[in-house]
Amino acid sequence: MDLHYLTITQASDLLARREISSVELTRALLQRIEATEERVHAYLTITAEQALAQAEAADQRIAAGEAGPLTGIPAGIKDVLCTRGVRTTCGSKILERFVPPYDATLVARLRDAGMVMLGKHNMDEFAMGSSTENSAYGATHNPWDLAAIPGGSSGGSTASVAAGSCLYAVGTDTGGSIRQPASHCGVVGLKPTYGRVSRYGLVAFASSLDQAGPITRSVADAAMVLQAIAGHDPADSTSAPNQVPDYRAALARGVKGLKLGVPREYFVEGMDPEVEQTVRRAFAVLEELGAELVEVSLPHTDYGLAVYYIIAPAEASSNLARYDGVKYGLSVRPEDGDLLDMYYATRSQGFGPEVVRRIMLGTYALSAGYYDAYYGKASAVRTLLARDFAEAFEQVDAIVSPVSPTPAFDLGQKVDDPLQMYLSDVLTLACNLAGLPGMSLPAGLSQQGRPIGLQIIGPHFAEETVLAVGHAFERATDHHQQHPSL
Ligand code: GLN
Repeated sequence: MDLHYLTITQASDLLARREISSVELTRALLQRIEATEERVHAYLTITAEQALAQAEAADQRIAAGEAGPLTGIPAGIKDVLCTRGVRTTCGSKILERFVPPYDATLVARLRDAGMVMLGKHNMDEFAMGSSTENSAYGATHNPWDLAAIPGGSSGGSTASVAAGSCLYAVGTDTGGSIRQPASHCGVVGLKPTYGRVSRYGLVAFASSLDQAGPITRSVADAAMVLQAIAGHDPADSTSAPNQVPDYRAALARGVKGLKLGVPREYFVEGMDPEVEQTVRRAFAVLEELGAELVEVSLPHTDYGLAVYYIIAPAEASSNLARYDGVKYGLSVRPEDGDLLDMYYATRSQGFGPEVVRRIMLGTYALSAGYYDAYYGKASAVRTLLARDFAEAFEQVDAIVSPVSPTPAFDLGQKVDDPLQMYLSDVLTLACNLAGLPGMSLPAGLSQQGRPIGLQIIGPHFAEETVLAVGHAFERATDHHQQHPSL
């Protein structure tokens, strides 16, 4: 039995029946990390010793009959989430030595639930990117094909789940960063409704869009992780007070009688025919299971990319102003220099090219005289995009679509062409602009052997519907049970 490819559900059963211990499981995962990291590079920091100590504590808890479903399960955390005493770099040189004095709320909740934290996952710098090539610490490779990108920005996390170097991960999604890499790595990735999961301790990229969520090997596992991390947090004023439903119970609802909308505008020009075929085959499966598929229109879809690339950089330029060489992180103080020289030296040495590009784009869009024409206009169009969804959800229970227009591309292929890179998220970012929950789950492989995902988008706080549709699809197919030969 390959312990490293267990789902959370399977592992927690084995732990409960005392057939394995968390220490054994953790050791197996640490070995797997050793066997795969050189090729995959999913981790920026590995916390082996702490993990084994946490595993021992988990075993005691299990023996005492005080275990929950996540107790003793080894996981990895995207390096944009603060972890007390464990370096948190955001994939950036500017935070190379930053050790947070506190845990992000969601990390604290997972620790309370008994997580064994194996380490911190690689990512595009400050979560800006679609390939993990923008990490200051080197790219992650796709376990299905080491020449391919894993997607981004949570590429370290999705590659790790696919490679078996953790049982689950938590990533973040501002425009697609959980779903797009999940699609490219053949794993499940769920971006919850804006406000569903606390962002306290999530290093901000674009505050009106950022949301954290689970990356797992099955939809049931995603429900379990979401259950642990969702809910109101007084430390995050944008976290929603809505009650957290029983997500696991929702899994069994099935799709019979549900109406699923297929957005006409989501089969974009330039879409790889294999993606379209795979996703249409998935639609047929859902129909066989009793769902009714209807065409819907999201007429402002074409504006999504432009709106996102004004709003996200604008918010980023403001959020990233805090890295000034004074408060924390890198500080470069040129001899005989003044304060401005320090800002300049720190920021130009600390930030990589994509982050610099975003700061410039965003500062421009917010500057006096341009604010109305760019940020103001983009915010207005954002409302139109949100309204498109609201109207569609008057007719359908959920929306189904492709995740990304192509399977994973080759490493290096798009690094010099930011616009091509941005297009990778053209089908995911509207969901963030509208604040909706969205999930990617494995739907098949391209002829080249690279995974292709199916996206399910629900109305606000309808994670239960999204999970139910995903679970039904998963039970009727075996894509999620396939692993790369690594
Ligand atoms: N790829 C998109 C970007 O670069 C989305 C990133 C994300 O969701 N964090 O902004």
